[in-house]
Amino acid sequence: MAITIFSHSYCSLHKVTEVHPERPARLGAINDQLIRSGMEYVLTQKDATPASKDDLYRVHDIAYVNDLFAREPQADDDHIWLDPDTLMGPGTLRAALYAAGSGKNAVDEVMTAENAKAFCAVRPPGHHATANQAMGFCLFNNIAVAAAYALHQYPIERVAIIDFDVHHGNGTEDIFLQDERVLFCSSFQHPLYPDTGADTMSPHVINVPLAAGCYGTEWRQHVAERWFPAIDHFAPDLILVSAGFDGHLEDDMAQFNLVEDDYHWIAQELSNLANQHCHGRLVAMLEGGYNLSALGRSVVAFLKGLL
Ligand SMILES: [Zn+2]
Repeated sequence: MAITIFSHSYCSLHKVTEVHPERPARLGAINDQLIRSGMEYVLTQKDATPASKDDLYRVHDIAYVNDLFAREPQADDDHIWLDPDTLMGPGTLRAALYAAGSGKNAVDEVMTAENAKAFCAVRPPGHHATANQAMGFCLFNNIAVAAAYALHQYPIERVAIIDFDVHHGNGTEDIFLQDERVLFCSSFQHPLYPDTGADTMSPHVINVPLAAGCYGTEWRQHVAERWFPAIDHFAPDLILVSAGFDGHLEDDMAQFNLVEDDYHWIAQELSNLANQHCHGRLVAMLEGGYNLSALGRSVVAFLKGLL
């Protein structure tokens, strides 16, 4: 089995501020650890291609997408804040289009190759972006674009999206809340930004809010109890993963205490579920993870777990 890594140098064009945690160095940190990991014999690196407007329109309001294109800053020092956390500078739109497009590339890869898995090392992240709102560092909802593309492009009926970022994937939930073709499973610290998800009532949304201070044993127990039977029952044709690593003990964006071994474990479990239900088809896309060292190590642990 092989894992294809999709990324693009344009994903580093998106620069916020010197002190902003969602910075280009995140992708460099992942790449450094991949090189150190000795995994090159099972990894294939490919350049992502950009999403089209039609790809975005499947999950975002047309007016929202066109507004971002119309407002794109052109001068080097020009930028606009789309929300208090989310900046659009001259390289942002291009980075966001390649981040969103990478999910399509990865879906094509796993749908057409035998027993293939894929990881998209891209930024900006996506899971907070709703149908009509940029928020929480996210412009386009990358994982939602990938899910909608898969359902549009291939003869499949059910996609499971698993989101283990420490923040609730409110944008993904918003986009698919009325769409029974998508099972959405999210674990997150609660209360914490964006303060959503704890009260969602839907048979195809499985939210697992957990208190600050949560350790891996507790997190594993809850997601195993809540997510795995739901995934078995749903029997997905494809598994997509919003892979956020900001629940790591060393990541001060939140107060979870997960470690590399927890990311290795969830990758193994999701890989087994993918093998059981959907010919091993699994695509993971980077969401959060802001401590550079912990992020790089966690991505490697996750990829080893997929194997
Ligand atoms: Zn996050």
